[in-house]
Amino acid sequence: TSFAHFGFDEQLMHQIRKSEYTQPTPIQCQGVPIALSGRDMIGIAKTGSGKTAAFIWPMLVHIMDQKELQTGDGPIAVIVCPTRELCQQIHAECKRFGKAYNLRSVAVYGGGSMWEQAKALQEGAEIVVCTPGRLIDHVKKKATSLQRVTYLVFDEADRMFDMGFEYQVRSIASHVRPDRQTLLFSATFRKKIERLARDILVDPIRVVQ
Ligand code: AMP
Repeated sequence: TSFAHFGFDEQLMHQIRKSEYTQPTPIQCQGVPIALSGRDMIGIAKTGSGKTAAFIWPMLVHIMDQKELQTGDGPIAVIVCPTRELCQQIHAECKRFGKAYNLRSVAVYGGGSMWEQAKALQEGAEIVVCTPGRLIDHVKKKATSLQRVTYLVFDEADRMFDMGFEYQVRSIASHVRPDRQTLLFSATFRKKIERLARDILVDPIRVVQ
């Protein structure tokens, strides 16, 4: 597979060319067409596999399609991950590739300023990258709303479980409309993750790195 097979538009292809990636990684070859088709997906992949781009590129296509159809506030895509560092990395990738479309991404994570994050959320963003507890705090304070979310990603789910975020992860899933697309990434696929997948995904396709 080459990048041309994904059918991305010229703006996104331009950003990909600028990154000097020569070809898609295996998780991208398998995952991108599934995510573009609108199906739910489980990706068993580690850091370094190129998994971030595998959910960001289809997310950008999804947002550009949905933006025309939807009014209202709040993000269209939410990416939930375990740590501040990962949040910042994913946010940087969203900005890099989202630049092609003028999309706004906001990162909200524990340890950062509640007030500054709330301000950024209220200014509006199509993409929110967050740690689970902090997103819930902002939703409770009505700094943002999940009503418009139709693309939901849980990255490094096993690590979030190890850090004790299972309740928060499930709570976020239960507060997003059921007609969403959900993608779940995890380095391992143990029982607890399997159970989570059964509870929050609909008829998912599983991809192994
Ligand atoms: P990730 O697994 O998403 O954390 O990505 C690991 C690293 O691989 C990041 O620095 C990406 O910028 C880079 N990367 C992602 N996709 C590709 C690709 N197709 N070719 C080369 N590098 C890539």
